[in-house]
Amino acid sequence: MKNGRRNFLKSMGLASLCTTLPMAACSSKNGPVAPVVIGNGKMKLSFRPYELQLKHTFTVAGNSRDTTPVVLTEIEYEGLTAYGEASMPPYLGESQESVIKFLNKVDLGQFNDPFMLDDILAYVDSVDEGNRAAKACIDIALHDLLGKLVDQPLYRLWGINPENTPMTSFTIGIDTSEVVKLKTQEAERFRVLKVKLGGGNDREMINTVRSVTDVPIYVDVNQGWNDKYQALDMVYWLAEQGIEFVEQPLPKTAVDDIAWLTAKSPLPIIADEAFQRLGDVAAFKGVYSGINIKLMKSTGLREARKMITVARALDMKVMIGCMTETSCAVSAASQLSPLVDWADLDGNLLINNDIYEGMKVLDGKVTLNDLPGIGIRKL
Ligand code: MG
Repeated sequence: MKNGRRNFLKSMGLASLCTTLPMAACSSKNGPVAPVVIGNGKMKLSFRPYELQLKHTFTVAGNSRDTTPVVLTEIEYEGLTAYGEASMPPYLGESQESVIKFLNKVDLGQFNDPFMLDDILAYVDSVDEGNRAAKACIDIALHDLLGKLVDQPLYRLWGINPENTPMTSFTIGIDTSEVVKLKTQEAERFRVLKVKLGGGNDREMINTVRSVTDVPIYVDVNQGWNDKYQALDMVYWLAEQGIEFVEQPLPKTAVDDIAWLTAKSPLPIIADEAFQRLGDVAAFKGVYSGINIKLMKSTGLREARKMITVARALDMKVMIGCMTETSCAVSAASQLSPLVDWADLDGNLLINNDIYEGMKVLDGKVTLNDLPGIGIRKL
């Protein structure tokens, strides 16, 4: 496959020359050369709704569900098919309807060169406000396409060492002790767990997980605590239980309380719901210890990479997470994972109807393959 692609790329020079010459001039001894046109083809975007079936009912502070709606996208270009995905957990405001409405407004056919990502994605961003997941599914497919055009995984194009991938956590939602115990036992192959708190049974949740395993735990409160003093007490208790950090402990609007908590906390305090786009990050210096980047918030890989750069410049910790997603969006995010401190890339493992295979979790570690682009194939 690699040789085929290299030959294809080699033919690009001749092919683009042929576009400027009469057909007869593009013949060889063996007959006419096929008029392959690179850089002047049209990208064709297609999409369809799909419903992810969760293996277990998933409960976080303020929300419980058994399915997640997604939209799967494909961009066809010069005989290649590239994949993207938008995932819309209901609390984020997007839906299959809103994503499809947005995608129907997008005209990629006006661009002749898929490598012009700055131009294309600035246009996509300008089509309408918000619609972050809808924008992400185009960004992901475009990145997949670029990788496929040059037959390289994205991490290689970005100069990232795939050996430096982090462990990924596996998420345990809020539930009864019995279910939490069962889920923790099922998560045996993971070296880190992420436990959802804020449901009123926080100590019971942690004690139950700790009765099964002593692996490091990340805690995500999903804005579920309200009082900064109680939050600080809880964070001190969590530090004694082997917890690594606490994500979004207080409501995102309680900026002063969060800054107070971060200054006093023995554990890093990480922002998730409090921010979406690149422009939000700089204001977090002194408020949070770090950020949790998700492609469905950042509008995709291009802005997510910039977020990592900005957070590092501000000396902040970086985590990369995901929604409930297929291996498409999770594998895309995994390409960036060697750059971050912590990964929570288990969204594809929480569903039982994935239609792609890509990144794997081996010995608890995010493991990248050498497939081009975002590193997936359709099952
Ligand atoms: Mg979170």
